[in-house]
Amino acid sequence: MMLNCIFCKIAKKEIPAKIVYEDKDLVAFDDIEPKAPVHVLIIPKKHISSVKDLKAEDKELVGEIFLAAPKIAKEKGIAETGYRITLNYGKDAGQTVEHIHFHLLGGHKLPFA
Ligand code: AMP
Ligand code: ZN
Repeated sequence: MMLNCIFCKIAKKEIPAKIVYEDKDLVAFDDIEPKAPVHVLIIPKKHISSVKDLKAEDKELVGEIFLAAPKIAKEKGIAETGYRITLNYGKDAGQTVEHIHFHLLGGHKLPFA
């Protein structure tokens, strides 16, 4: 848990978000500035700043994200039409929030990258 981390605050329900999925370890919510008709962010409740900060002990947590994604896609009605899962790191990829998050995007034909 990190003071002043916006996604930790969403995970703790201290600031509002449209939560679409939650379990013991994860929260998923609609992106506030959607880049596709379906744009969900999937995060671990545990504060991890970025992909480079993952530890061996987080292996299962990362696996859980990829197991939750198809469930969320189904819930959002894009299980059949398809979706993309992305993670940004650093300035060239445009990571703006320093709490690891996976984008789940779909609902129309996605442009490459
Ligand atoms: P990234 O560029 O990979 O770091 O993605 C950060 C994402 O978080 C962007 O798509 C933002 O629109 C989204 N975002 C930032 N603040 C919030 C918020 N309070 N609630 C929902 N999504 C947010
Ligand atoms: Zn955090």
